[in-house]
Amino acid sequence: MCPASWCTIHRERISKNLELALGLVPAGRWFCAVLKADAYGHGISQVVPLVQEQGVTCIGITSNAEARVVRDAGFGGALIRLRTATPQEIDGALGDQVEEQVASISTARLIRAYIDTNRYGDRVHLSLNASGMSRDALEVSTGPGQDTCRQILGVLGKNIGGICTHFPSNEPHELTQSSELFQQQVSWVLENSDLSRKDVLVHAGSSLTLVSDVDVDTDMYRCGAILYGILKPEHGFRSTMDLGARVVSLQEYPKGSSVGYDRASHLDQDRRLACISIGYENGFRRIAHGKCAVSIGNALAPVVGKISMNAIVADVTNIASVQVGDKVNVFGDVNGARISPQMAEAQFQTILADLFTDWGLRNHRVYR
Ligand SMILES: *Cc1c(COP(=O)(O)O)cnc(C)c1O
Repeated sequence: MCPASWCTIHRERISKNLELALGLVPAGRWFCAVLKADAYGHGISQVVPLVQEQGVTCIGITSNAEARVVRDAGFGGALIRLRTATPQEIDGALGDQVEEQVASISTARLIRAYIDTNRYGDRVHLSLNASGMSRDALEVSTGPGQDTCRQILGVLGKNIGGICTHFPSNEPHELTQSSELFQQQVSWVLENSDLSRKDVLVHAGSSLTLVSDVDVDTDMYRCGAILYGILKPEHGFRSTMDLGARVVSLQEYPKGSSVGYDRASHLDQDRRLACISIGYENGFRRIAHGKCAVSIGNALAPVVGKISMNAIVADVTNIASVQVGDKVNVFGDVNGARISPQMAEAQFQTILADLFTDWGLRNHRVYR
């Protein structure tokens, strides 16, 4: 096996990040490890054992395939789906004890039918649109929304074991407001049902909520990003994925040469260029054209010309030691020099979670 480009997954860093995150959870609150999107590109089957090791009792997923992997790994705890499922998904996940979200009467009736035939025995989570994510949760600030909510409560009754929301912003002022609104809506639900507060898991908040200074009233935090070192390096969280490739050729080109498709770049002087074994096929996105670098042998080499499908070209005129076959650090600290999260986010114009989920799928994964 000789992959042209590869993600190195640092398992021990995931474990360390998890340990740090668990340390931030206030006493008496729960923690849900979010392993959706194939554990943010890290490979869910490799990450499940790490969260099991530290006694995590709840895992969040979105797809049935992910649920299957988690159960295959022997995880017996709560498995929560983090978005509304399709009817097909609900049916397909019955064997894996997935706790579904409900925000419509049709979903409530469907789950009721499975409960009545002993095919669904888990908690159902009523999902509220408390603070304006407006994605799939129920809006209960309106009359029709309240009617729907009463009907759902009538259909599912005590099978509702959770009430949840997802905050669209963790900016302190917004978080405080969202959290208060959610608590009001939870109170309204409790007043309009036979549910009692102590029997219901009320949960909201993600990684950014956990690290914010706002004390959000939640029974459980659902955290993904923080496990993968996507936030708060100043608190010791380290990013858990590196992306590497290799130098495949070194060539000298004279001043004035055009470089890459459409002749979009030209050399201002004689230059030595390295061709590197990664391209947009591997998630080295074309948008990075003209504003990115890679690191080779502890030095930064600017990428020149448009990004090809399987290749990029970097200017290594000033890196005397570089040789064909050398490792290139596209992200992380593969060889000492660092392409930091901030640099990657700037050059690819997106967030690290987007890059990780993409890179993990498009490159061979090596586990440390
Ligand atoms: C993805 C997701 C989370 C985790 O978010 P992070 O910012 O990665 O911690 C929590 N809750 C829901 C509903 C999600 O979809």
